[in-house]
Amino acid sequence: MSKLAQVGDFCPNKNCPDYGKLQGHQLPNIIKFGTTKKGRQRSKCKSCQQTFTETKGTLFYRRRTSETEIIDTLAHIAEGNRLSSLVRTGGHKEDTIGDWLRAAGQHAEAVEEVLLNDYELSRGQIDGLWAYVGNKGEKKLS
Ligand SMILES: [Zn+2]
Repeated sequence: MSKLAQVGDFCPNKNCPDYGKLQGHQLPNIIKFGTTKKGRQRSKCKSCQQTFTETKGTLFYRRRTSETEIIDTLAHIAEGNRLSSLVRTGGHKEDTIGDWLRAAGQHAEAVEEVLLNDYELSRGQIDGLWAYVGNKGEKKLS
């Protein structure tokens, strides 16, 4: 399974104006900032001056459920499963799934890549997912 978003792709500091924004060539505010003693890449956000390592800052950073399970759920929604049945079978609250959907919308490009490549969903199914989210997030036309 591909990595969704890694440190250096966005700032994991919630108080930062650039928190959660995927970095592109237009917005290079995350810079490499040496390595830790254990050899992990360290990055620094130029907007908030915070430094952080690769253990932070995955797409679904600090959510209690594993990234794989979250993406599985998103894939089910894209495939047309009803939220109510996912709530029944997955044991997660509807609010929780809604939160994942919003997070996914913020990283639409990374989520799409995984759903297209690893889950082999169709473009139409993914568009259906975004319609469900009601927000195209940072998806860019490319
Ligand atoms: Zn920042």
